[in-house]
Order: sequence, then C-alpha cells, then structure tokens
Amino acid sequence: PIRTRIAPSPTGFLHLGTARTALYSWAYARHYGGQFVLRVEDTDVARSTQDSVDQILAAMKWLGLDYDEGPIYQMQRLERYQAVVEQMIAAGTAYRCYCTPEELDAMKAAQEARGEKRRYDGTWRPEPGKQLPAVPEGVKPVVRFKNPVSGDVVWDDVVKGPISINNREIDDLIILRTDGVPTYNFAVVVDDWDMRISHVFRGDEHVNNTPWQINIFNALGAPLPRFGHMPVILGDDGQKLSKRRGAVSVTAYEEAGYLPEAMLNYLSRLGWSHGDDELFTREQLVSWFDGSHLNKSPAQWDPAKLEWVNSQYIKQADDGRLALLVAEQLAKRGVQADAARLSAMVALYKDRCATTVALADWLAMYFGPVVPNAEERAAHVTEAVGPALAALADKFAGIEWNKAAIQAAIKEVITAHGLKMPQLAIPVRVLVCGRAQTPSVDAVLELFSKEIVIERLRSL
Ligand code: GLU
Repeated sequence: PIRTRIAPSPTGFLHLGTARTALYSWAYARHYGGQFVLRVEDTDVARSTQDSVDQILAAMKWLGLDYDEGPIYQMQRLERYQAVVEQMIAAGTAYRCYCTPEELDAMKAAQEARGEKRRYDGTWRPEPGKQLPAVPEGVKPVVRFKNPVSGDVVWDDVVKGPISINNREIDDLIILRTDGVPTYNFAVVVDDWDMRISHVFRGDEHVNNTPWQINIFNALGAPLPRFGHMPVILGDDGQKLSKRRGAVSVTAYEEAGYLPEAMLNYLSRLGWSHGDDELFTREQLVSWFDGSHLNKSPAQWDPAKLEWVNSQYIKQADDGRLALLVAEQLAKRGVQADAARLSAMVALYKDRCATTVALADWLAMYFGPVVPNAEERAAHVTEAVGPALAALADKFAGIEWNKAAIQAAIKEVITAHGLKMPQLAIPVRVLVCGRAQTPSVDAVLELFSKEIVIERLRSL
C-alpha cells in the first residue's frame, strides 16, 4: 500500500516549501487510495515548541491536508530508537564512540591543516583484529553508525532520477547523542520503517542525507521506501525563498486574504504540471497526481500569479462564505460588520478584488468613517459642484432608498445643473466612498444607509 508522510520540525511556522511537500505527499496517497501520516520531528528540544506544532497543524487544516495517522511525536518514541540502537550495536552495525568534543575538534583541525574533508577518523570503529582504545572514565559515549567503506549507494529518485554516491564520501554518522536522543538521519529511518512509509517526498536539502539513510535501512534489514526530492522554490530574485524576501509561511497568506483552495492550486503547480491546466479543483488534483510530471528544476515563486489564481477563486466563491472572511478581516481593524449585510456587498465588489483583504479595504467604508483622498477631493469636489451636491442630498432625503430611485435622483440633479454624469458621480464617490473610482454609483450608494450618504454629501 502507498503510505506517505510529512515530517515537519516544529521550530517555526509551516513554510511554503514544507506545505508543497505535504501537499504532494497527501495528493500522492489520496490518488492511490493510500494513507498520509503526520510526524512531528521534535528532537531538537531546544528549538521545538508546542506553539509551532499548533501553527503547523492549523495551517495543514486550513489547506485541507487531512492525515490518516498522527501527529506522532518523535520525543515520545525515544525508547524505540534506543532499543534499535542496542540491536544494531549487538549486530555490529553501530558502535559507541567515546571521543570527547575536544578530541573531535582536534581531529577536525588536523584534517583541515592537511587540506582534507572533515570526517570522523574511525578511532572507535570496531574492525576484525583491531585493538580499540581503553574506555575512558567519565565520558558519556555517542553511538555511531558503522557505514560501509566501499561501494555505491544508488537510488532512483522519483523526481531527480538515478543518483549514486560512493560510500567513501560519507563517514560514520552519530545516530544517538550522549543524552539518548537520536539524530535526524537515524530517527527518520526508524520511523519511516515502523510507519511502513512507501514514498518519502521531501526538499532537496535532504538529498545528501539519503545515502546515510539508505545504508541504515539496509543495516536494519528494512525495506527501502522510494525517495523523491523536490527542487527548491526560488524568489523572484533567483535566490531561495526566504523570510527576508517576503511571506514564506502558509499562515501569512491566510492572513493576507488568500483562499485555501487557491493556495493549494498554486502550490501544486510549483514543481508539477498537468498539461496547460492552471485552475483545477482539489478532486482533479488528486485524480491527476500520480507522481509523474514532477519538475527537476527549481520552481519560481510568483506573487502576481498567486494573486491572479486567488482572484479567480474569489470570483467564484460563495458570497456568504466571503462575507464571513471579510468580517474577520474587518474585525482585525476594529470594524464590526454584520455578515448578512456584507454578503450583498461582496457580490458587488468580488470581481475586482484579488483577496479578502482587498474586499475588506473596499467594504470598510460601509461600516465606519471614510477619509477622502486629499488630492482626489481637491480635484473633484470643486466649489462649482457644491450646489449640485447639496441639491442631491436634499433630493435623497425625500426618496425611497433603492437603486432605481437613487439613479433617478442623480439624473434629475445633473439635468437641472447642466452637468455630465461623471461631473456629479465622481465627487459623490469621493465624499461617500473616499475614492474616485467605484462600481456603478447607484449600486454602491444603495448599500449605505440613506442617512450616511446624506451626511457625507453634506460634509463638504
Ligand atoms: N524534519 C525534516 C524537515 O523538516 C524532515 C525531512 C524528511 O522529510 O525526511 O526538514
């Protein structure tokens, strides 16, 4: 059976790169009717936090990446790792190393002085007929993996194709620290084995770890999963996407008013394609995502494209749902808005807004004061138009408040004052909405209360 996993380290938010890996792992499992497992790699105790776990889980939930098992915490599995280590020591595939940090530093310095690559020199590595040093007193040992010294580690990467590394290039990795906590490369193997993971998708930065992991799988007699290493995501400057270059957490996009289905759609296209299809549903993604058409070359993060994708989803989204999201955005600004009222408003503006934040920018004028842009006010709300604005306010006072009546009142005033439509409609927009360009003025005004419109028209 197909079993995939995502294994975030809870040292921060859910990074876009991890989200994409999670998405591919999830879609792959769903496509083949398999399972998707969530594992929390929290062995970096100093940097792992519950807050980060919560954020990551919330972001996964927001994206709709549901998992079948987990979260499984590595720190709750210490006994299991320690038991496997003991088995390996007994089998001769791992050994205790009593080198002190000072000795390791000296080893490193000597290697550097000789122009050699830094590596463990094998002092404590048992070999047939080799005399090991006497165990020093008071030194807590680490446990190292006894890596093969020759031969190639070869695998056919799902994304990158065949990869081969010679064992001479890798040394005897620490698998258990002095405090009994396993290192990443070891815990990941025990877990992927125990959790019967069939496919490991992860970022490119782990490709150098895979040879060690394959050797450990082999030493354990465990079946190998298939590995797929996703190329990095680059920012528009060609550098790896990073915090300094803008938002890199899924949560930041949620807060910036993106819809989860747009995010999912956009992320899926970063490194994978299905013909020329740009917009598709979660169900289509699952039915298409069979592990082919994964790109080998780095993907480019394109904020304008993401915004376009989001705008397409906003256009199609249900008004009631958007109203709730806009209400949340407005609440963050201290503006209390009634979702039922917002729903009608959303319908009028959603075609021109790429995000729910942009919608909130528009709709705030219905729930609180507006400050007309000073330049626009000076340009459009001239003295000459003052009498017409006053006449319009008076006229509005006497009508029933609906689109047709509003339009009729405006027409009467422009005729009486010899104006063209924009000569009145633009100053009205500036005073009532705080901006010169809006959808059709009668539709826009109808959504205000009559009293507010009159008050704003008289505010000049
Ligand atoms: N904890 C690792 C990371 O977040 C997981 C790598 C893996 O999937 O093996 O990068």
